[in-house]
Amino acid sequence: MALDPPTMLTLSIALAAAAALYLAIEWRSIREPSLLFWSAGFATITVGSTLALLRGSGLLLIGIWLANGLLVIAHWLFLVGVARFTETRLSRAWYLIFLAWAAMLLLPDDPSWSKVMLAANSLLVALSTLKASLLLRPHGKSLSVGAVQLRYVLLIHGLFYLAKAISVVIPGTLIDLAAFRGEIIQISLVEGAMAIMLIALSMTGTERYRREKRMARLAARDPLTALYNRRALEVRSPRLLREVASTRPGALLLIDIDNFKLVNDLYGHTAGDRLLVTLSEIIRSVLPDGALAARLGGDEFVIVLNNASSERIVGLGSTLRDQFQQVAAQTFTTPAAVTLSIGATLFDQPPASLAALIEQGDAALYESKRGGRDSIRLVDKRTNAALN
Ligand code: GH3
Ligand code: MG
Repeated sequence: MALDPPTMLTLSIALAAAAALYLAIEWRSIREPSLLFWSAGFATITVGSTLALLRGSGLLLIGIWLANGLLVIAHWLFLVGVARFTETRLSRAWYLIFLAWAAMLLLPDDPSWSKVMLAANSLLVALSTLKASLLLRPHGKSLSVGAVQLRYVLLIHGLFYLAKAISVVIPGTLIDLAAFRGEIIQISLVEGAMAIMLIALSMTGTERYRREKRMARLAARDPLTALYNRRALEVRSPRLLREVASTRPGALLLIDIDNFKLVNDLYGHTAGDRLLVTLSEIIRSVLPDGALAARLGGDEFVIVLNNASSERIVGLGSTLRDQFQQVAAQTFTTPAAVTLSIGATLFDQPPASLAALIEQGDAALYESKRGGRDSIRLVDKRTNAALN
């Protein structure tokens, strides 16, 4: 099988051009700047590899120095893209890579030229690539599957270039950049084609996974308060409800603002929105560990918890009502008090469904409203006793 360097290079040119185009198209729909840097990196490789073909025609400055330099710049662009992706600021020292590249023009024209050139060039590529891989290490935040893939692909690629830089200095290694002779150069061309594919695929995967995660997060949250919405509660509550037993009773609290319309009517919809956000913050601050809170819609919120008791629920309800009433009374003067009504249900068996549970909470809430508002109504399903 003839794997002559010009054929390999032509293959790399085609792959890099396809990768550049693919990432640019991906950028057009996702608009993540990192994709643009990565696309520019592959476009640079396309140009560099095309120029590398010219060394066959004796254009050594363009075919070696410029072509290899563009490879360094391409990996630097990959690094900048990763820095954007991970929201990291790169130190200015990384711009010195350009100086190091320019300095290679000053290399003495003797038999060791090819070796020094290849070693320095490989080292610069390895530096950018390994740094990019390092930036993708998990620190606190967990990394998406896509980012982990990119991290390892870059790590292996970077280590390959590091090994290449080291192998060049082993005595007796044949390196002839002008004639593409030497095993290292041959192996490098094959690795290059593989790396283009793997890196480009991991890059698109990285952004896609992140986008999917973002979309899933957005779809699960109420946009105003950032609490879970009803759908997210439906997805998350079954696990919590399954654990309900006589030794670990569960509870649901349905919370509705009293006379909320007055705030909207007298102070405007934006003021009403602010009050909804305030209530969501109060709910978050008193939410027991492992409990779930959601905004069902309008001025209606829900808390689901286990390990509950009637004292615990009444205590939680009182804290919520006191804190909310204080803020509401301080902020708005209304003909009727803006307070909270809560309908709660306590149960020691997993309910048929969340909807059935909400229905029970609704009935209790209705009783609380009917009883004059600003109160909690708790129905203990274990005894069917109601508590005000
Ligand atoms: P009640 O004491 O019986 O609970 O009456 P209320 O005035 O609190 O009104 P109700 O709970 O029946 O209805 C909730 C109102 O909340 C209806 C709607 O105008 C208003 N609303 C619903 N969603 C939003 C929102 O996102 N922002 C604002 N500002 N108002 C909302
Ligand atoms: Mg209301």
